[in-house]
Amino acid sequence: MQHIHDLIGIGFGPSNVALAIALDEKRHGGKPLDALFIERQPRFAWHPHMLLDQAHMQISFLKDLATLRNPTSRFTFVNYLHEQGRLTDFINLKSFFPSRHEFNDYLGWAANQFEDACRYGEEVFEVLPETQGGEVSLLRVRSRSEGGRVQERLARNLVVSIGGTPNIPESFRALRGDGRVFHSSSYLKDMARHPQARRVAVIGAGQSAAEIFMDLQGRSGGLQVDLVMRARSIRPSDDSPFVNEVFNADFTDYMFSRASDERAALLDEFSQTNYAVADLDLIQQIFKVFYDQKVARGTRLRMLRQHDVRAVRAASDGVHLTLLDQDAGRESTVRYDAVVLATGYARDQHKDLLLPLAPHLGDYDVDRYYRLKTTPDFHPGIYLQGACEDSHGLSDTLLSVTSVRTGEIGNALLAAQSRARNAVRDEAQAVRV
Ligand SMILES: Cc1cc2nc3c(=O)[nH]c(=O)nc-3n(C[C@H](O)[C@H](O)[C@H](O)COP(=O)(O)OP(=O)(O)OC[C@H]3O[C@@H](n4cnc5c(N)ncnc54)[C@H](O)[C@@H]3O)c2cc1C
Repeated sequence: MQHIHDLIGIGFGPSNVALAIALDEKRHGGKPLDALFIERQPRFAWHPHMLLDQAHMQISFLKDLATLRNPTSRFTFVNYLHEQGRLTDFINLKSFFPSRHEFNDYLGWAANQFEDACRYGEEVFEVLPETQGGEVSLLRVRSRSEGGRVQERLARNLVVSIGGTPNIPESFRALRGDGRVFHSSSYLKDMARHPQARRVAVIGAGQSAAEIFMDLQGRSGGLQVDLVMRARSIRPSDDSPFVNEVFNADFTDYMFSRASDERAALLDEFSQTNYAVADLDLIQQIFKVFYDQKVARGTRLRMLRQHDVRAVRAASDGVHLTLLDQDAGRESTVRYDAVVLATGYARDQHKDLLLPLAPHLGDYDVDRYYRLKTTPDFHPGIYLQGACEDSHGLSDTLLSVTSVRTGEIGNALLAAQSRARNAVRDEAQAVRV
């Protein structure tokens, strides 16, 4: 008989690493859940192609994998620093915002402690229903290794934590596969494939676009870089304290309790905390770069505001973008050696993975504890992390509530497990009677 896992987690990024920690700490010496995580990368890495040298966290280190749920956890960032022998040095930095390199190292340190619970190098491509007596009792999770080997596993519960998928604007879709146009999520890897590139466009006006612009302008060889945006300006992300309260764990309750039109209004009202905005200090650095260029009477760097990409053409000499200057009403075509799309992420990939289950999942609505609502004949629990912004708020795609959320999901999983065990025991007793 094939082994049945209590839980399979798809993806082993921060969300599922935090879940592994929460489950470990909720055991209280009891029998652990049999949880297995499946991660497509060959080893733990947190947005590895955006690990830029100057980039730092946009969130306090106290919003790590554990502290807000359990400040005494051994998986806190503070304990990581202690184990690395850097705690006092970090204190002397006087910063709440570690470098992204350091936070990646922290996340990897935590992930490595669950090495046995994770299968790296396998991509889940499908989840199928397993039926018994006409009802769905289990899930069959199918994954493929890099070498093409398909593996199937059974689970009672699933936690889908697969992050976002690159959002590619319509005008660039035809160029998928042309290595000269790539998304920010693969920036360092793909840029390294173009050592000869002299002229680069960065499309976007958010944090990634701003970081990539700074990285490109500082590279040796004096690249020509155009930062192309529809907006009139790069805007600062609002992380002022009252606004930041939307990332508090208790704001999730408030958001979830609202009607759908109110939720949408809240997302809209606070979108400038996270979308199409950049850190103020980064904006100031970019302004300084342009100011210095003015002093030197240079033209190497351009910020093309209110510019819309109207057409894209790939040719042997480069990628030609036809840009409409919305202010002047003028079109021009510019040739680039590489185009970086810092155009954000989509968060609906779970629907593709779960497609064979769609008849049981309705509108993919979740309950307060992130469990998908299903038809009565469907018994496995499917939980989503990072795909519930509409119902749970702007913190859902970030690290802000990760530790608290995984505590809630962990409780829900353990409660379901104990209900199932009680049902089996009651059934056995009934048979004996
Ligand atoms: C460059 C960058 C910087 C960021 N900085 C911050 C920050 O400072 N603060 C903050 O709060 N948020 C930040 N974020 C937001 C980010 O979403 C979270 O930090 C965090 O990564 C969310 O964790 P996650 O595990 O939900 O998703 P991810 O980190 O995206 O992890 C998902 C994992 O699932 C794997 N996966 C995907 N599909 C499959 C599949 N089919 N099968 C198997 N494995 C799969 C992926 O390989 C990946 O490892 C940043 C995002 C980016 C892109």
